[in-house]
Amino acid sequence: MSNEDDYFKRIENEKKAALKSKIDTDASAVASAERKATHWHKCGKCGQDMETLAYRGVEIEKCPDCHSVLLDPGELQILAGEESATLGSFFGMFSKS
Ligand SMILES: [Zn+2]
Repeated sequence: MSNEDDYFKRIENEKKAALKSKIDTDASAVASAERKATHWHKCGKCGQDMETLAYRGVEIEKCPDCHSVLLDPGELQILAGEESATLGSFFGMFSKS
């Protein structure tokens, strides 16, 4: 095998490695999208379809079966209103990353 063959073989392997890493990234994005599609609007406790209710101008998801409630970021603060000052440390739990 000549040096030139080695060179092209190496380039080819690098291309394959780059392609594989792209495929892995795509696969993880697809898996994430599939998870979302499977679980979106489902109750995290019992798997029922959530109902959307308007409450004090906030749209909340409520499970018709186990009555769990799902809030989007910030909605808990809106619902707590004036009490949110006393609940500051409680909300802090959700903003830590
Ligand atoms: Zn439920």
